[in-house]
Amino acid sequence: MKLTILGTGTSTPSLKRGSPSYLLIAGKQKILVDVGPAVVRRLLECGYAVTDIDVIVITHFHVDHTADLSTFLFACNYGEQARTRPLTIIGGPGIRRFYGGLKKIYRWVAPKSYELSIVTMKSGALQLNGITIEIYPVKHNKESIGVRATERKTVAFTGDTAYSKDLVKLAAGADLLVAECSFPFRTVKGHLNLETLDGVVREARPKRVILTHLDPEWDDFKGILHAPYLLGEDGMTINL
Ligand SMILES: [Zn+2]
Ligand SMILES: [Zn+2]
Repeated sequence: MKLTILGTGTSTPSLKRGSPSYLLIAGKQKILVDVGPAVVRRLLECGYAVTDIDVIVITHFHVDHTADLSTFLFACNYGEQARTRPLTIIGGPGIRRFYGGLKKIYRWVAPKSYELSIVTMKSGALQLNGITIEIYPVKHNKESIGVRATERKTVAFTGDTAYSKDLVKLAAGADLLVAECSFPFRTVKGHLNLETLDGVVREARPKRVILTHLDPEWDDFKGILHAPYLLGEDGMTINL
């Protein structure tokens, strides 16, 4: 498995950190978690085109996680090569309505030459070509989900969230946890900071934890992070 961190930022525009998005290559599947602003271009910078992606997981509908979904779908129709590879979009309750809304505004996002499946999940598991995808509800928005992908190793993504028992289950024993830690110290509803994330990590015991969804407050952070924590950076690649 190979994880590329496309962006480690938030909704606050930053020259250092792009919008939060991750590309996980597991077996033959290329899974994109969240498609925030400028992610389509970011993918290209990392060597991938929209036509390479098999699965998109939308953790929730906030703009920093979804703005480039229409750009993505548009490029599948009108890019250098029209897409033929099937595409699956997985999201929490309301994902069909969300996609329907995009189609109303931008009719050009409807697939022209490929099969699009939209899967609504708030919890549970599904198998995709040898990869197990598990979905857990997380505490942020009504539709918010975290995702856990297992091939030989397990990588879990929290999406935006506060502490919850389901979050602990999502992270339990993962080889790598890609965890939102929006602020180093400040407490903000619906998000984690170092202390609340540490509560999750103590219970769930993931082997490694990459911090992401980093507010610009992190730019002034002078502390030292110890294992299993690693501060995420845009473009970082991890082989598992
Ligand atoms: Zn966010
Ligand atoms: Zn959010």
